[in-house]
Amino acid sequence: MARRKLVYEGKAKILYEGPEPGTLVQYFKDDATAFNAEKKAVIEGKGVLNNRLSEFFMVGLGHVGVPTHFIRRLNMREQLIRAVEIIPLEVIVRNFAAGSMAKRLGMEEGTPLPRPIVEFSYKDDKLGDPLVPEEYIIAFGWATQQDLDDIVQLALRVNDFVGGVMYGVGIKLVDFKIEIGRVWDNDFMRLVVADEISPDSCRLWDMETGQKLDKDVFRRDLGNLTDAYTEVARRLGVLPTNVTHATKPTLIN
Ligand code: C5P
Repeated sequence: MARRKLVYEGKAKILYEGPEPGTLVQYFKDDATAFNAEKKAVIEGKGVLNNRLSEFFMVGLGHVGVPTHFIRRLNMREQLIRAVEIIPLEVIVRNFAAGSMAKRLGMEEGTPLPRPIVEFSYKDDKLGDPLVPEEYIIAFGWATQQDLDDIVQLALRVNDFVGGVMYGVGIKLVDFKIEIGRVWDNDFMRLVVADEISPDSCRLWDMETGQKLDKDVFRRDLGNLTDAYTEVARRLGVLPTNVTHATKPTLIN
């Protein structure tokens, strides 16, 4: 059997050529990285959970009219997606101060923001994905002003949807990152949500206890990352409640 062609390998995912032109297969790895890959580990089961969770959010976004790159899930670790031209920006939406914003501004993590704040980082691992103002984005031609207006609209719709769904299961959406891609239908360009939406790219805090259910568990050594992601998936009904990743012996009495 012919081997499929690898198109791109990133830190947490691999893209392979898809079965039809204009499609790609997105494979979710178990690799976890933080601090621009200075910290690395293989977390068994993470890829399977993120594949499911990203499917859940992308399908949901489609149902509320937000276009995404997602076509369908293929198996435990892979999904079929539309090939898009990725805009080289990390689009970050924040509802509460945390992470780099809390650090930069000396704010206490969890401080509510007066409104959702959308910010952009330039996607470049060598530079550590620096925060960039809109002025840079337009001047360097990474996106036009019209694109940026559309990207902000998309990002805020994702925020409302994901934040609302999370609220329904007792989780606070503190912040998240998405990537945006261009798709071309003949001469007509559309912007779609791309990459992934998962606990790798969001900050998710339990509404009652404040427990972190996202990649900060790995970044800050707060416990078992798979347990945290499994909890998010379980609450969302993405995994049946009787399935656990653990293979611990069960005492029967
Ligand atoms: O680190 P910072 O506070 O800027 O991250 C904001 C949000 O963006 C967090 O939810 C984080 O998980 C996400 N993020 C990401 N990929 C990056 C940088 C940030 O998913 N390269």
